[in-house]
This record gives sequence, C-alpha cells and structure tokens, in this order.
Amino acid sequence: MTHHKYDIVVVGGGPAGINAAIAAGRKDKKTLLIERHGFLGGMSTIAGVYPWMTFHTEDGTQVIKGIAEEIVQRLKERGASPGHLRDTCGFTYSVTPYDPEVYKVLAVEMLEEAGVDLMVHSFVDQVVVENGQIQSIEITTKSGRKHIHAGMFIDTTGDADVAFLSGAKTLMGRDEDQMTQPLTMKFRMRGVDLEQVKEAMLQNPDNFFPKTPFAELKELPLTAVQGFYKEWKEANLPINRDQVLFFAGPAEDEVLVNMTRVQGLDATKIEDLTKAEYEGRKQVLMVADFLRKWIPGFEMATISSTGAQIGVRESRRIEGKYILTKEDVIAGRKFDDVIAKSGYPIDIHAPSGNGMQVAWVEGDGAFDIPYGSLVPKGIDNLLVAGRCMSATHEAIATTRLTPSAMATGQAAGTAAALALSTGVTPAGVDVKELQKQLMEVHMVL
Ligand SMILES: Cc1cc2nc3c(=O)[nH]c(=O)nc-3n(C[C@H](O)[C@H](O)[C@H](O)COP(=O)(O)OP(=O)(O)OC[C@H]3O[C@@H](n4cnc5c(N)ncnc54)[C@H](O)[C@@H]3O)c2cc1C
Repeated sequence: MTHHKYDIVVVGGGPAGINAAIAAGRKDKKTLLIERHGFLGGMSTIAGVYPWMTFHTEDGTQVIKGIAEEIVQRLKERGASPGHLRDTCGFTYSVTPYDPEVYKVLAVEMLEEAGVDLMVHSFVDQVVVENGQIQSIEITTKSGRKHIHAGMFIDTTGDADVAFLSGAKTLMGRDEDQMTQPLTMKFRMRGVDLEQVKEAMLQNPDNFFPKTPFAELKELPLTAVQGFYKEWKEANLPINRDQVLFFAGPAEDEVLVNMTRVQGLDATKIEDLTKAEYEGRKQVLMVADFLRKWIPGFEMATISSTGAQIGVRESRRIEGKYILTKEDVIAGRKFDDVIAKSGYPIDIHAPSGNGMQVAWVEGDGAFDIPYGSLVPKGIDNLLVAGRCMSATHEAIATTRLTPSAMATGQAAGTAAALALSTGVTPAGVDVKELQKQLMEVHMVL
C-alpha cells in the first residue's frame, strides 16, 4: 500500500469534479483529482450526454459563467464548439454543442495548467473517518491499493460515494418509494440528413413540442428535435417513452439520440447496473431501426457510437445543511449564501410511467443554489458538488444538468481552498469572502 498526501482531493472527474479541481489548483492548493475511468468528462464523455444545457434563463440572460464559460470559449477557439446556440425545440433558450473528444483533452490541459495531479483508472472504495473527519481515502488501481490523505475532500462522484462510504447521510430518489429517474443508454448516428428533418418539422408543427420556435426555425441551425409524436405512437415500441428526442451535431450529419429508458433500477447496485447495461443496448438497436424506418432524413443513418456505460440521471445524493426544494426552484428563490445560479427548469423523466414532469422557473427566470447544499452533515472536511449535492428528487432534476454541475464544482473547489487557508471547516467558511472570490473569477451570483 502506498501513501500520498494532498491539501485537497477531488473524487470523480466529471464536469463538477474537473471544475472543482481546477478551482482548487488555481488557489495554489496541492490538489489531486481521482477518476475511475481512463478519461475525464463524467456523463458527458462516458454516457454521451450532449449538448450542455443551459447557461441561460428562458429570456436569454447568461447565469452560468466562470470556468464553465472558459471551457466553452476554449472549445470554441479550437473549433470544438459553436458556443451557445438557440434550442430549436424551445425547451430552453440555449444549448451548447461540444466535441467530447476535445473536451476530454482540454480538461486535462486545464488541470495541468492549474497544477492539479490526476489519477485515472482509480476507484475509490474505502474512506477512513476519525472524529467526524476523513483521514484518508483508499483507491484500487492496477498497481495496487493506495492511501490518499488530505485536509479537505470533495465528492463529485455523482453517486455520493465518498459521503456514503464516510457514513454521511445520503438519500435516493422519490421520498415515497426511492425510485429514481430512468437510466438511458445514449447513442450517436451518422449519415442523417438534417435538412429533411427540419422540413418535416416546418410542414407539420403540431407533431412537435409546443415551444418549438417555428417562426425562427428556418433561419436557425437545427440543434434539438422533440416530437414526432405520431410516428412514435404508431410504431408502439416496448419502451416507456412518449416522444422522439435527439440533438444535432457535432458533425453536420450526426445526431445524439436520447430515447432509451430503463426504469425501476438502482444505479448503485451492481446487479441492477448489469441488467440496465444490457437492456439499454437492446433498446438502442430498436430505436435506431425505428428512426431509419419512420423519420425522414434517417434512411441511410448508422449507429456511430454508444455510451461506454449507461447514463445515470439520478442515484444517491447527500442530505446537506440545506436541501434545495422544488418550491425554491419554481419561485426563482434567492439565498444569502448563493454560490451559483441556474435557469434550467425542473425536468423529471418519469421514474415510472412514460412521460416527463416539467416545471419552469418563475420570477426573473433564475434560482439560486445555496452554499448549504454543498455542505454535508456529519463530516467536517467534506464538500459535495454536482449531481449528488443536497436537493430533493424534484430539485435535483434541474441542478443535475451539466452547466450547473460545473458551477457547483467551481464553488466547492474554491470553498475547500478557502476553508484550508482560513483554518475552518466547510461549514465555517466566510460565505461573503467565498462569494467575493467567485465573482472575481466571473461567476454570476
Ligand atoms: C441520460 C442523461 C441525459 C442527460 N441529458 C443532459 C443534457 O442534455 N444536457 C446536460 O447538460 N446534462 C444532461 N444530463 C445531466 C448530466 O450529464 C449529469 O448530471 C452531469 O454530468 C453531472 O455531473 P457530475 O460531475 O456531477 O457527475 P458525473 O457526470 O456523473 O461524473 C461523476 C464522475 O465520477 C466518477 N466516479 C464515480 N464514482 C467513483 C468512484 N467511486 N471513484 C472514482 N471515480 C468515480 C465517474 O466515473 C464520473 O466520471 C443528462 C444525464 C443523463 C444520464
């Protein structure tokens, strides 16, 4: 067993973990990012999640910036993202297409620039706690087990693995039955004629999501398509879904399909994950056949990739000092300890049943994410960000989105560094100072 010592250790190299580690490294803390796969990006690169949505409120005000926006700009500079484009299904104001292969490399580059060490192919499976403090975590690697010691830990595993293993209280799914949003195996198709898809939309607007911006559609580059209700209903596939949903790009003849749905399973149980991976892949073949047969422009399309693993929308989350609620989100509530904002609606893919449950953000169109939602109860040197932060099943259905995960990650990394510099626990951080530091690096609070 080898031992390593750091100031800050971030576990989970998804959008939240990458931004947390960059933020901590930029504060000159000796930081390590640990990831179980061989590359970074979390659901974006492991499960094919695409595009990122959304950096804006419904009226087009940008409320997520900071490192998240820096990533978009740096992708744009290398032709790997067109930046923020209008969402052509009208679900949000903007979507942000990106090339996942370039994101994987850019993430490592930015971590190196920030002086962060990286260990991939490293699975955290044990946490040593003494007197309410994590002393070390253990990872399984090809070169044996390693003990990693640090002053501060950040859990960005999506599944709250570090919090769970340290004995902090975690929750799962709906209050009444613990059921979570479905798992989805995403896939890409090439050889799609998107002009034909657009033409079908313009000719039959009633067959598409009612918020689709038809008045502007002709001029807009096609980014998202939600509908083909008639074709989906007639085909009557054994998938508990109510519509076709796909996103255009990054190549001109390419789409990312978000239509498979595996329900009733727990993404933290190996038996359930095993079932889900197989079921998801069977559904991919079924949906690809459906698209080729029923949807104009797909006649010649072929599957070009599938997720390396099934996508997990929801699993364990922490119970933090504050639990963000559906009411907070819908009211566009403001908090004194705000550390990030979002304008994405509550978007629940039904845990059972075939529909979606959507609730839009009222007020000025953005809700605050409070610092208290990143601070777990019971463990004194741990922060949590991204998909497993503290929110109800309904509220996590908006904070789970990639731009919000990036923003909460940056806040957690900055807070961990501040806690170490000032000799306090995360719960004792001077929130005004934290907010000042976040705004200095262009986060919108
Ligand atoms: C099907 C689906 C569709 C979605 N659609 C969209 C969309 O269109 N737009 C959008 O913006 N967002 C979308 N999302 C949401 C978004 O992708 C995720 O919620 C987001 O990636 C969360 O980021 P994260 O960093 O918190 O967690 P994750 O992306 O889950 O990253 C967690 C990371 O931790 C690693 N990890 C986990 N456990 C361990 C461990 N024990 N040891 C070491 N490493 C570990 C994982 O390998 C992973 O890299 C979708 C998600 C899914 C599943």
